[in-house]
Amino acid sequence: MPKSPDEIIRAEILKLSAYHVPDSTGMVKLDAMENPYRLPPELRARLAQLVQDAAVNRYPDPGAVALKSALRKALDVPPGAELLLGNGSDELIQMLALAVARPGAVVLGVQPSFVMFSLITAFAGARYVGVELREDFSLDIERMLAAIEQERPAVVFIAYPNNPTGNLFDAGMIERVIEAAPGLVVVDEAYHAFAGQSFMPRLPRHPNLLVMRTLSKLGLAGIRLGVLAGGAQWLRELDKLRLPYNINTLTQIVASEMLRHGNVLTEQAGAIKVERGRLLRELTEMPGITAYPSDANFILFRTSQAERVFDGLKQRGVLIKSLHGSHRLLADCLRVTVGTPDESAAFLTALKQALKA
Ligand code: PMP
Repeated sequence: MPKSPDEIIRAEILKLSAYHVPDSTGMVKLDAMENPYRLPPELRARLAQLVQDAAVNRYPDPGAVALKSALRKALDVPPGAELLLGNGSDELIQMLALAVARPGAVVLGVQPSFVMFSLITAFAGARYVGVELREDFSLDIERMLAAIEQERPAVVFIAYPNNPTGNLFDAGMIERVIEAAPGLVVVDEAYHAFAGQSFMPRLPRHPNLLVMRTLSKLGLAGIRLGVLAGGAQWLRELDKLRLPYNINTLTQIVASEMLRHGNVLTEQAGAIKVERGRLLRELTEMPGITAYPSDANFILFRTSQAERVFDGLKQRGVLIKSLHGSHRLLADCLRVTVGTPDESAAFLTALKQALKA
């Protein structure tokens, strides 16, 4: 008799639940921090031409050389730092976790934060330690330093701005974390386009710092491209875990061309920032809602009976994200992605109705 999955699959995997992506067909989709804007028609035509000419019968350039050199310029990567590319930053997190997962290895982060830090750590068989944020979602630096001292983590992940809280942590506190950490500190700047602050210029000062970016939130979620910048001595080792050809030909072509038209996406990010201000003001004025300021392209807000409000929005065709039940500090919290002015209007109308119902 062959064995059943629970005799074969690792216990820590059996007890995980799969990362659930809800069906959003036909909905106003404000759940996943996507850029709501499509590309201008001329640029779409140009991309179509490049894709048409692409030699998809061949494997992609394994080192993505042209794309990397365009990224270096576009992201202002300081001299001396190298780049490692991933199929989304999720894959970079995975390479990091796999690389450090020696017996007893610890990966440390804050709580609440991006769930893939802890999930991927579990996939890799390492132990995740989450240090709770303060009630105002700021970094609890004393607890953080104490946990670093006690756990001696191989990697510390800090999302800057943080997801799902939307805030930038104090840069001086992050510096203290980098200085205290015995291993790597990864500053995940997925929402950089909406924040303006970056640890990229600090790379030369800290040999244990890596800065992670993604093109997903900027408007290219569909092509899956994440970037890790930092010292060659680290990236060389991580690169050994990278599956050959992880950045496919179409992604390499489209990303390289898009970096030549970087202003298109940064202008869209600018429009999203304006809309974020408007949406935050509207939410703040709404009775029964506490909205938190955001440096990202989403807004976290609290309301009573969040689950009921979430369902009410869904029934009215608006999909956002419920964080209720995911962490003590997020009780009754919902997160809405900043979309177009029309999408905000649809969301706010549905929210008012859901609150009244
Ligand atoms: N980091 C953070 C903080 C995120 O919120 C997300 C996506 N929600 C990611 C990384 C993953 O991005 P990617 O699409 O590049 O895998």
